[in-house]
Amino acid sequence: MEQRNWKSLFKDELERISAPHEWDFILDNTLQKQLAWLVYIPCTFGRFHCSSCNRLWHSARVHLLFLMMLDKVRRCGTVKMRIFKQKCRRCTSADMEEPEISQENIRIVIGNLVNRIQSKIYLKNNWNQDRKPLVIDNFIEGPHNKEHCEACQANVCPISMLNMDRSIPGNSIGLYLILPAVFFIICFIIHFITNI
Ligand SMILES: [Zn+2]
Ligand SMILES: [Zn+2]
Repeated sequence: MEQRNWKSLFKDELERISAPHEWDFILDNTLQKQLAWLVYIPCTFGRFHCSSCNRLWHSARVHLLFLMMLDKVRRCGTVKMRIFKQKCRRCTSADMEEPEISQENIRIVIGNLVNRIQSKIYLKNNWNQDRKPLVIDNFIEGPHNKEHCEACQANVCPISMLNMDRSIPGNSIGLYLILPAVFFIICFIIHFITNI
């Protein structure tokens, strides 16, 4: 049902930009990033339901992976989509669950996706900023837990990439401390030798 929503909204958006080619839209639950494909990894808001304990939770970090490519010989484009799952924090052996995403948030993600196609594939330079997802009032999300996030496990979650980035300056700080110390010791030795 939901997949039909994605496809029909995608078709509407292609009409909005008067796309000169036909485009396929494929849902693939095992999709990974691939070379030569244009990548878009948005984040939206959705609701999950644990099938073990019936708990409901909302997340503003529902990750999606889109790959886009235009085959100019066949005169046909392809978009592949993966929706990343999450699992319940309370149940130790819970399954990964698919999110429910509102029609309005699907429309926002698809609009942002088609703006990219227009700008990066058809080179029409009228891409505005991405629209942000609609989030319910008073929504507060706990800390992000990698073990419960399928996107983190597939290494596409921006939160996990952020954590990876953070470790790089951490390593360089050590270098920044060692280099002046080595410089100081060399100066001290030179000063000591020249004063003998
Ligand atoms: Zn549960
Ligand atoms: Zn994650």
